[in-house]
Amino acid sequence: PAPDSDEGLTMTAALPAAVADRLTRILPADRLDGVLASFAAVKDVAFRINTLKEQLDAVLAGLRAAGLNPRPVAWSPLAWVVDAAAKRALTETPAFYQGEIYIQNLASQLAPLALAPQPGEMVLDLAAAPGGKTCQMAALMDNQGWLSAVEPVRDRYFRLKHNLDQQGVSIAHCYQKDGRAVGALTPERFDRVLLDAPCSSEARFDLNDPDSMAHWSPGKVREVAHKQKRLLLSAIHALKPGGVLVYSTCSFAPEENECIVHAALHKLGDAVEVTPVDIPVLHQPGLTEWDGKTLNPQLAHSVRVLPDSLVDGFYLARLVKQRSTQ
Ligand code: SAM
Repeated sequence: PAPDSDEGLTMTAALPAAVADRLTRILPADRLDGVLASFAAVKDVAFRINTLKEQLDAVLAGLRAAGLNPRPVAWSPLAWVVDAAAKRALTETPAFYQGEIYIQNLASQLAPLALAPQPGEMVLDLAAAPGGKTCQMAALMDNQGWLSAVEPVRDRYFRLKHNLDQQGVSIAHCYQKDGRAVGALTPERFDRVLLDAPCSSEARFDLNDPDSMAHWSPGKVREVAHKQKRLLLSAIHALKPGGVLVYSTCSFAPEENECIVHAALHKLGDAVEVTPVDIPVLHQPGLTEWDGKTLNPQLAHSVRVLPDSLVDGFYLARLVKQRSTQ
């Protein structure tokens, strides 16, 4: 389908042509204009209350005392939103400086919730910096258990460590390593693994900020896809039989999403299975066909979160390991 409003057409023209064309092929016709409009929206600011540092009510009281008016999010007691215009004021509150809140888009908060790490478990975050999801997982685990956080890029690794300290995370063990090596180093050691993969970041495109699109190219998508395939295999090898893995990206490209999970299923056969996941925001099922290629039907259980004026675009697949891959 083609965009059917002038607004849609104008904004399509400003996205890289290949991305706009791809969106028209992927999205349901009645969602296309809304998604295109989201690239120009000035988004309200979502944040997560960090119960490792302070109780929910005390944080909210502090924010209100600072003149802010946080709005709740129906599906998570810890997710809150302020108007875009209040972002600066939010970052000047004691709660922000003391790590009692963490600014994190709602789509991003869905990945740890889908993984659902439990207190006492062994958990791996294979692409961790700057650490928003690592901190959220530590909070879900109530700082009990073991949380390995892997990040190879030096400055991002130090930013990760800083954020974990500031957020009061005591169970994290940080490793400055390439995630592709981790599966072989720690085979079948973890109960749960998050692979929030490095990606082309298409869902972060902002038509008000041309720089957000400056580094995108079809070649970049191919390059990250190659890395993602190897990272996902490493993540699966690090997972115990019976364990749960979430693979996520902030890209719309099937080559970075369904095709990566398809390749792992193809290689490992029935050793892994894609399982349904409950997503409380606007979404569509993962694709089971792309560019004339039929993909594993299990990919219909994966999820494409559709962006709107608050939520970023996101892709998420929940995998359960059925048997050893050693
Ligand atoms: N999960 C993070 C969060 O919620 O704050 C965001 C992760 S970001 C999407 C992907 C990260 O993967 C980047 O920090 C990037 O430097 C890192 N990365 C790049 N190559 C990697 C590799 N070979 N192994 C592990 N991580 C890698």
